[in-house]
Amino acid sequence: MIRAESVTPWLRRITLGGDALAGFTADEPAASVRLLIPGEAATDLVIPTWRGNEFLLPDDSKPTIRTFTPRAFDPVALELDVDVVIHGHGPASNWAAAAIVGAPAAVSGPGRGYTVDSSATHFIVAGDESAVPAIRQLVGGLPVHAHARVFVEVTRPDARTQITDHTDALVTWLDLGDDALPGSRLVDAMQDTPINPDTRIWAAGEAASMQRIRRHCFETLRIPRSHCTIRGYWKHGRGGDFEG
Ligand SMILES: Cc1cc2nc3c(=O)[nH]c(=O)nc-3n(C[C@H](O)[C@H](O)[C@H](O)COP(=O)(O)OP(=O)(O)OC[C@H]3O[C@@H](n4cnc5c(N)ncnc54)[C@H](O)[C@@H]3O)c2cc1C
Repeated sequence: MIRAESVTPWLRRITLGGDALAGFTADEPAASVRLLIPGEAATDLVIPTWRGNEFLLPDDSKPTIRTFTPRAFDPVALELDVDVVIHGHGPASNWAAAAIVGAPAAVSGPGRGYTVDSSATHFIVAGDESAVPAIRQLVGGLPVHAHARVFVEVTRPDARTQITDHTDALVTWLDLGDDALPGSRLVDAMQDTPINPDTRIWAAGEAASMQRIRRHCFETLRIPRSHCTIRGYWKHGRGGDFEG
């Protein structure tokens, strides 16, 4: 890790660097990389090995691996940025909050991103803070003629950050109240917004809320599944790498 800086009080940009990044590419928006998070006491990073059907550490324990969006990659400097939400409850969040410049880090990937349909004219893009890096890339890559509604749910007002300068993107910030379930404001926004079936929808955030958005799009609005990419990025009350 060669740099760590705060984008907002709740989002920390970690820059990874090194020759091992040569050849890395993530051409599509909202791709993913997997980060190996060192144990709290670890001074060196121990790389797990493949043992038949999973990666394990030398003592047979499971490595702590979490998924992030490759926010930016500089192929000349060989620097990869990831923006990590500081939510305070998990190893990746704690690691990013206390990131030590010069500490070793391991990353694998990339996983596939989102293919923007360049013929589409209407997009809805929605997500919580964990999806902000992906949303920013995705909206930046929309066709110039496209209209976009963008919903971003944040747990605190000072988590708002620059999302886009796309001329036809209307960004609505949704503040999650103290007692509200994560993703509930996104679900409300999707249910309250008139959506034409030709609209392309991309949404990511807390898994249960994404499941409700999927149901609304598929069962209530009958939007073709091929027009929707709706991904659970994390699960409320459950730690560990998650994708659903
Ligand atoms: C394709 C993909 C891309 C992603 N991109 C990003 C990204 O760019 N930036 C980013 O920050 N996250 C991103 N995520 C989400 C990230 O992988 C999870 O938030 C991850 O669980 C964080 O790990 P942790 O060790 O901090 O917490 P965990 O150990 O996984 O969880 C511990 C506790 O914290 C809660 N928790 C986990 N994540 C959050 C959160 N975001 N907000 C509030 N509570 C949480 C869990 O419910 C659990 O109770 C992405 C996920 C996927 C699948």
